[in-house]
Amino acid sequence: MKDSYSFDIDKAGLDKSFDLHDAVYRRIFSRCGLKFVAVEADSGSMGGSQSQEFMVYTDAGEDLIASCPVCGYAANLEKATSQLDAVTELEATGDGSVELIHTPGMGAIADIAAFLKMSPANDIKCVAYMALKRGEAGKPDAWRPVAAFLRGDHQVNETKLLGALGAAELRPMVGEELAQFFSGPAGFLGPVGLKPAAKPLGEELTVIVDSALEGRKNMVAGANKLDYHFRNVTPGRDFTWTLTADIRSVNEGEACPKDGCAGKLVVGKAVEIGHIFKLGYKYSESMGARVLDVNGKEVTPIMGSYGIGIERILTAAIEQSNDANGFWLPASIAPFTVVVTVTNVADAALRETGEKVAAELEAAGLDVLLDERDERAGVKFKDADLVGIPYRINVGKKAAGGVVELVTRAKSASEDVALTDLVALVKERVEEELLLEESC
Ligand SMILES: [Zn+2]
Repeated sequence: MKDSYSFDIDKAGLDKSFDLHDAVYRRIFSRCGLKFVAVEADSGSMGGSQSQEFMVYTDAGEDLIASCPVCGYAANLEKATSQLDAVTELEATGDGSVELIHTPGMGAIADIAAFLKMSPANDIKCVAYMALKRGEAGKPDAWRPVAAFLRGDHQVNETKLLGALGAAELRPMVGEELAQFFSGPAGFLGPVGLKPAAKPLGEELTVIVDSALEGRKNMVAGANKLDYHFRNVTPGRDFTWTLTADIRSVNEGEACPKDGCAGKLVVGKAVEIGHIFKLGYKYSESMGARVLDVNGKEVTPIMGSYGIGIERILTAAIEQSNDANGFWLPASIAPFTVVVTVTNVADAALRETGEKVAAELEAAGLDVLLDERDERAGVKFKDADLVGIPYRINVGKKAAGGVVELVTRAKSASEDVALTDLVALVKERVEEELLLEESC
């Protein structure tokens, strides 16, 4: 980890330090060739206010994030929101009031949706939990019953649910608890007929409804009775709840939550490569730090905290750029920019040309590795591919005619280049790459 801290006289100074770090960190990550997104985040155990993580999408990541490629919106899945397309409501049946229908064996949403020829978005899903309420004023902790209702095609985000309830932990409701708080079995649970607690986490059942159910009508829900569902279920008319909140996880392809943005969200695993946040007065106050301001008055400095995971830059770059033969690094962070491979070291002329090419590239300011091992050419090519050197120059049979082969690892592309043009061309390619990275 690379850490830095800023100390300023006032909040305006901290804003400036934070913005400068933000700009510099973006430039560093861009120069390292990383496709990153900046995500608003929790400042974690150190406290503080404004907090931002820099994340790189990779399947090896530990966090799930959603981002918009159009406007740059990005958030942890625990915080991300989206705009939903309007759902086509079902036509009411009969007199439009709640109607019991026989649905034998259709405990799964896909089955009931197929049976009624409707979208799972017309179904109300129930997820039943026991939530741990921390005891207050010396009272012991207690597990409290919670029924969460959301659209049939949506998933509960348990971090959002914990936050909305103010609970410490969640676990699924089990058999006898289900029997106690619902009259029906799993697969046929629904909101009609429940008696919601007045306040969250009481001894009675807390009913929490996802915001996406507000304003909906004629939905299908379990009837709390084996092999039966209700239809024509309209939230607010046919059932009430303890509270509504955003408790769903956003899905890939949903519309960006920013007003006026037409972007679609991308959801994936990501790894954190940097974190900056406004630390405030927490440590300067507790440690009694004091400085004099311009008027000679003693003030407590306000702090910012900024970190980069150095080794994560390298692992993220490798995760981002690899194939069956190994990986490649951007020239900015590769230990060597070019490897000069002499295909046959027994040939003195080839060896000499290789040494000369390497010396010239080095004199031009590039980091060069000369591979003059007594190995077969194929072995040396494989090794060079494996360790991520972005450019390889093969000095082989054509060298007698003044030509070598330039291989660009990222593209697996090779081209013949005249020895007289080689140094200028490689230097140009590397500089282009660095400029490109800085502009992204
Ligand atoms: Zn957007």
